[in-house]
Amino acid sequence: MPDSAQDQVHDVVILGGGSGGYAAALRAADLGLTVALVERDKLGGTCLHRGCIPTKALLHAAEVAESARESEQFGVRATFESVDMDGVNKYKDKIVGRLYKGLQGLVSSKAIDFVAGEGRLVSPDTVEVGGRRLTGRHVVLGTGSHARSLPGLEIGGRIMTSNQALQLDTVPGRVVVLGGGVIGVEFASVWRSFGAEVTIVEALPRLVPAEDEACSKALERAFRKRRIAFKTGVRFAGATQSESSVTVTLESGETLEADILLVAVGRGPNASGFGYEEVGVRMDRGFVLTDERLRTSVPGVYAVGDIVPGLQLAHRGFQQGIFVAEDIAGLDPAPIDESGIPRVTYSDPEVASVGLTEAQARREHGDDAVQTYEYNLGSNGKSQILGTTGFVKLVRVKDGPVVGVHMVGARIGEQIGEAQLIVNWEAFPEEVAQLVHAHPTQNEGLGEAHLALAGKPLHTHA
Ligand SMILES: Cc1cc2nc3c(=O)[nH]c(=O)nc-3n(C[C@H](O)[C@H](O)[C@H](O)COP(=O)(O)OP(=O)(O)OC[C@H]3O[C@@H](n4cnc5c(N)ncnc54)[C@H](O)[C@@H]3O)c2cc1C
Repeated sequence: MPDSAQDQVHDVVILGGGSGGYAAALRAADLGLTVALVERDKLGGTCLHRGCIPTKALLHAAEVAESARESEQFGVRATFESVDMDGVNKYKDKIVGRLYKGLQGLVSSKAIDFVAGEGRLVSPDTVEVGGRRLTGRHVVLGTGSHARSLPGLEIGGRIMTSNQALQLDTVPGRVVVLGGGVIGVEFASVWRSFGAEVTIVEALPRLVPAEDEACSKALERAFRKRRIAFKTGVRFAGATQSESSVTVTLESGETLEADILLVAVGRGPNASGFGYEEVGVRMDRGFVLTDERLRTSVPGVYAVGDIVPGLQLAHRGFQQGIFVAEDIAGLDPAPIDESGIPRVTYSDPEVASVGLTEAQARREHGDDAVQTYEYNLGSNGKSQILGTTGFVKLVRVKDGPVVGVHMVGARIGEQIGEAQLIVNWEAFPEEVAQLVHAHPTQNEGLGEAHLALAGKPLHTHA
C-alpha cells in the first residue's frame, strides 16, 4: 500500500522497456489499465537497439554486398568495390532511429507513464526509481539479458560481445567467433560477406546445435562453400591480446590469431541486484521462475522475456507481454505453448524452424511413430532464380499431424509464418496438401513437401 505522498498507484508497474515489458505496457494500456513503464536505458531494449534490428540491417547490407559480387551470374555487370562501414552504420542506425521514434510515439500516445531510471523492486507491489515510488496492483519484471562471457575471458579491446561488434567502424580482416549458435553464425555470415576471414569455434559437435541435425549439416556445407571456417567439438582454453591482434588458444593446443574475438556464448538474465530475491521471487541460476501463466512465486508479480527460462527471442517476449496484460485485465488468455514458438537464424543461408526436431519427435513419440520428408529446394523455381540451395524438412507423427518444420535456404525465414500455423494448428499433411501455394515462390516448397508426405508429390518423388 502507498505509504508516502510520493507514492503513485498504477494498475501495472513494469520494470524494463524491452520487447516483453513494452508489449505488456501497450496491451495493458489498450485494455484500459493505468501503466508505469520503467526503463534505465532506451525504450525498445536489446532487440531494437543491440539485437534483432541492427543485426538484420547488417545482414541485409551483407546480402547486397554478395549480390554485387555475384552480379555477373545474373548477367548484370556491377563491380564490388568495398564495404564502407560508415555508410552501413548510417543505414543501420537510421532504421533503428526510425523504429525507436515510432515506439516512443506509440507509448506516449497511450498515456503510459514512462519513467526513466533504474528501478528496484522494494516490496511485492512497489518499484523504486530514484526517489520515486511506484506502486502497482500488479508488477511485471522484464529486465532482459546481457551477453555472457566465459570464466577468465574478459571483454575489452579486441575481445568483444555483440554490443561492441555492432559498433565497429571498419571491417576486421580476421575474426574468431566463439560460439556457433544463432548470434555467432549471424555475425560470421555478415563479416564473411564484408570480406573478413572468419573462424567459428563451437564446443558442441555442430553449428546451430539447437536445430535439427539436418539444418546444421546444410548450414555447415554452405559455410564451407563460403569459406567460413569452423571448428566444432573443440573447447576454448584462453585468449590474449596485444596492440595488433588477439590470440585464441583451444584446449586441443591449437592457436588462432585474429583482429577480433567475438564472444557469442549465450546470454544471461539481468535479474540480480534489483531486489527480486529480497522480495521473495523464486529464482534458478539467475533466472526468474514462473508458472505457465508467467506468475512468479510472489502474488501479483509477473515476469516476461529473457529473464524467464526458455527461448530468448523477441517475439516470445512480445507474446508474453500481451499474455500478462490480458491475464491482469481478467481476460483469461490461453497459456503460450513454448514448443510452438518459431525460430529463425538470419545467416546466409537462413535456418528457420518450428516445433520438434526429428530427434525430439523420435524421443517423444517413439521411433516407429515418426515419419519425415525432406523436399529439396533444387526442384523449386524461385529457389533456383535466387540461386539458393536448401530444403524443407517435415516431421510428422504417422497418421497424425506435422509436429516440426525445419528449413534452410536464402530468405527461407519468410516461410516460417505458414510453418508455424501448420505446427500450432496441428495440421495433417493431407490438409496442407489441399491449400494452394503461389507459383513461383519458395512458399511452394512447403506445399510440395506436404503434397509428397500426403502421398501425391508433384515436382518431386515421394
Ligand atoms: C545480437 C542479437 C541479435 C538478436 N536477434 C534476434 C532476432 O533476430 N530475433 C529475435 O526474436 N530475437 C533476437 N534477439 C533476442 C532479443 O533481443 C531478446 O530476446 C529480447 O530483446 C528480449 O526482450 P526482453 O524484454 O526480455 O529484454 P530486453 O530487450 O533486454 O529489455 C530489457 C530492458 O530492461 C531494461 N532494464 C534492465 N534492468 C532494469 C532496471 N533495473 N530498471 C529499469 N530498466 C531496466 C534494459 O535497459 C532493457 O531495455 C537478439 C539478441 C541479440 C543480442
